[in-house]
Amino acid sequence: MELQERSPLLEVKGNRELKRPLVKVPSQLPLPGSRFKRGTNQMEDALEPEKKRVRGLGTATKIDTSHPKAPVLTTVPQTRGQTAAPKGPKKIGPRCSTAIATVLKNQKPGPALPAQKPGTAAAPPMLGGKKPTKRPAWDLKGRLCDLNAELKCCHEKTQMLGQENQQLWSQLREAQQQATALGAERRTLQEELTRVRAQAEQDHQELETLRAHVLELEEQLGTQQGLVRELQKEQLGLQEEQRGLATRLEEQERKLQASESALSESQAEVASLRCEAAAQVALLGEQGERLHGLEMERRRLHNQLQELKGNIRVFCRVRPVLPGEPTPPSGFLLFPLGHGGPSDPPTRLSLSRSDERRGTLSGAPAPTTRHDFSFDRVFPPGSGQDKVFEEIAMLVQSALDGYPVCIFAYGQTGSGKTFTMEGGPGGDPQVAGLIPRALRHLFSVAQELGCQGWTYHFVASYVEIYNETVRDLLATGTRKGQGGECEIRRAGPGSEELTVTNARYVPVSCEKEVEALLHLARQNRAVARTAQNERSSRSHSVFQLRISGEHAGRGLQCGAPLSLVDLAGSERLDPGLALGPGERERLRETQAINSSLSTLGLVFMALSNKESHVPYRNSKLTYLLQNSLGGSAKMLMFVNISPLEENVSESLNSLRFASKVNQCVIGTAQANKK
Ligand code: ADP
Ligand code: MG
Repeated sequence: MELQERSPLLEVKGNRELKRPLVKVPSQLPLPGSRFKRGTNQMEDALEPEKKRVRGLGTATKIDTSHPKAPVLTTVPQTRGQTAAPKGPKKIGPRCSTAIATVLKNQKPGPALPAQKPGTAAAPPMLGGKKPTKRPAWDLKGRLCDLNAELKCCHEKTQMLGQENQQLWSQLREAQQQATALGAERRTLQEELTRVRAQAEQDHQELETLRAHVLELEEQLGTQQGLVRELQKEQLGLQEEQRGLATRLEEQERKLQASESALSESQAEVASLRCEAAAQVALLGEQGERLHGLEMERRRLHNQLQELKGNIRVFCRVRPVLPGEPTPPSGFLLFPLGHGGPSDPPTRLSLSRSDERRGTLSGAPAPTTRHDFSFDRVFPPGSGQDKVFEEIAMLVQSALDGYPVCIFAYGQTGSGKTFTMEGGPGGDPQVAGLIPRALRHLFSVAQELGCQGWTYHFVASYVEIYNETVRDLLATGTRKGQGGECEIRRAGPGSEELTVTNARYVPVSCEKEVEALLHLARQNRAVARTAQNERSSRSHSVFQLRISGEHAGRGLQCGAPLSLVDLAGSERLDPGLALGPGERERLRETQAINSSLSTLGLVFMALSNKESHVPYRNSKLTYLLQNSLGGSAKMLMFVNISPLEENVSESLNSLRFASKVNQCVIGTAQANKK
């Protein structure tokens, strides 16, 4: 250590090399124990002289004697060369005794001696407190004594200084130990300081981080405060809304209370209504029973009415004069009023025929012969399709009640049979014929009867009988227009129902489906017409509807066919005309037609006369219609008449045939009920 290197103690050590004995002087240095027992400041005070010695290397070292207990030891730097210096303060020699004396003197308590000025000589040593006397030069013995005394004194001092030196060495060791400890402490403290600085740095960084964080938090706080303000605003709005809702809630509660009271009233009302409804249901059951009874009664009465009208009726319909046709002479066709006057529906028709041959022979104007006919109903030319249907609606309805119904259109070609049955050209609903109207009516009545528990199914077929061959008019696809052979057969062994093989039986449930079927039949006829000249007028068209009804609740079933027949033209060939090759075929056709029409007449006659044999099988037509002609069936024949005078002969023939049919009275009809 620096302190060690320059310690005054080292100087003292140097002094040990003195060969001369020194006066033993008790050490005036502070004891280590007492010195270190003092504070740091005291220690510094103790070290101060050392510092002064350091500063004053090469100069006199001064020991402060101001302290009463610390006598000043004033020494001068001594080198080996300087030890014997005779003069000045730097010499220890003759003046040594003076110095030792000074030291000894200073050991005494008392005021400190003033510091000796550098450069001044020390006073001669005083022994025994007496001022040494100056010996004369010759007193060698005395002087030797003095020197011995002085030597003795030096020896003592040397011993003392040696002791002091030892003490100082021990102090030095202690001080060194102390210094080492202090150094260690210093290092520890420096380390601590470094650590504290690092900690401080770290803390500073942390502080910076915290400041940044604080700033960030402040920003967030600002944002949060903004949000809080917004939330507060929102809260205010919500509070307002809440108040509004509370008001509404109160209002709703009031309404609810009102509703609840109304509900309880209603519930009471419902309970009473339920009782009432139960009573009504019971009543309804009774009324249902009554209704069913009434329906059955209606059917019975309806049948009776039809019977009273006759199971075979004849309606005469005269078509209007078509554009381009000659207007018949007035009075040619007359419709005399009935006994009831104009309010009565016409039933009579009068046709005038001029006998040209008789007129020509006599030269006078040809006389006219009136032919009067009476039928169940006569429709003059202006009668519309709806009016005609009105008259047959009840008859058609009989088919639903289980009575077979058969309606014919009879007359010469062009008299209006197809118009009456199917309708006018173009599919105009105003001029729709009996077939679409009858089916529309049946569908509607079946729906009404559905409310009473009846369920009806309808299946349609449409065939043509030409030259005693049957062809399906509803054929489609590959069979279309081919005129595939159809045979009339019993539906099954033991069954009375007849069916046409190879013919389509199409279920129908609405008017549109019926229209589609009629359209298909017209198309099939048109194809055939191109192949065989005007075949349609030479054939019978038979539209049949199989009706089956069921009352599941009562286990009742009923069903009967409705047949609507557009007969072939009833015109006859004039027997007087010469027959060409084409005419022969036509004659055959006519004969076939006449045969089937006359067979029809014969069937009616046989039925009317209640003959045991009815010739149904004589023609395909009567055979096919077997179940619709006879005792259990209701029949209606339209006799269609041309208004033209030129057709008067054919008209008369038709009217005569119809009159014969009209005279038939066919037995009581039996409903097909199970
Ligand atoms: P048919 O079938 O007896 O040969 P149509 O029904 O074909 O006769 O009638 C011949 C023509 O007379 C057709 O053009 C038809 O439109 C017309 N016609 C028939 N009856 C009437 C009527 N009641 N009103 C108007 N036109 C009719
Ligand atoms: Mg026709």
